[in-house]
Amino acid sequence: MRLNISSQSAILAVLVLLMPPAVQAQSPLKVFISADMEGVAGVVTGDQLSPTGFEYERFRGFMIAEVLAAIQGARDAGATTVVVADAHGNGENLLIELLPDDVTIVRSWPRPHGMMEGIDSTFDAAVLIGYHAATTSTAGVRAHTLSSATLTFVALNDIAMPEAGISAAIAGHFGVPVVAISGDDVAVAEVEALLGKIEGAVVKTAIGFHAAVTMTPAAAQSLIRARVKTGVERRRELRPDVLQEPVRLDVSFKHYRPSEILSYLSIVERTGSHSIRFVGRDIVEVSRFLEFLSEYSAELAP
Ligand SMILES: [Zn+2]
Repeated sequence: MRLNISSQSAILAVLVLLMPPAVQAQSPLKVFISADMEGVAGVVTGDQLSPTGFEYERFRGFMIAEVLAAIQGARDAGATTVVVADAHGNGENLLIELLPDDVTIVRSWPRPHGMMEGIDSTFDAAVLIGYHAATTSTAGVRAHTLSSATLTFVALNDIAMPEAGISAAIAGHFGVPVVAISGDDVAVAEVEALLGKIEGAVVKTAIGFHAAVTMTPAAAQSLIRARVKTGVERRRELRPDVLQEPVRLDVSFKHYRPSEILSYLSIVERTGSHSIRFVGRDIVEVSRFLEFLSEYSAELAP
């Protein structure tokens, strides 16, 4: 039987009314999750953070459990699509078989958007899990920005940045607000100083670079689920962090030679014995430059 347009839409309206409320409410809501590891509950040293550490395998489990809690929190707030970027170390930490079948995962490096690879303007909210304080912090657990081995200072438009600030700026470029973060108290305070009062899940209190008072994994996971739910619900009141363009990047290196060699490039200005400046058209260009700094070596293979 063929129906005219108006009777088709009348039937459609009746069908929608017959649907259970949960189905009616499913308008698309995309949430992006960037997952680091230093800010996971219980993490205090390299013993938890790299494949050579004696507790790494267990802490990968805690990391994925915090990501699962964040996904659950996002779903509690109505998320229909979730993408997760593995943003720690080799980018191969998340136990991907434990994620729900409708979640996709960004893995390994290099990648132009760094810790936020996979985000675009179709997302409604971004969540940062397991994040830590900036390299300029004297207080945070494992405080560093991008590379604890090589960088001592990273600033965007003259403001010292933790990784969370860079991630928020990339999300902001695409019009997406960061709505929630988990990590130690210092990491959460830093991001709130930059972005205002987003939802912070403080899963441990820093004592120093290698010590903290921590929640248990299970307690941290329920806190994260609750905070992410509230954050995603608040997404319309939280503003994307849009940097003024062009974007000025200042970096200081632990060693002398990177700034010397980089200054051979006409796009780089040497600002000191250990420091350089790069001005990018936007944060995406700056992110690509940072990724180059982190990843390039003449011995790269294959
Ligand atoms: Zn990190």
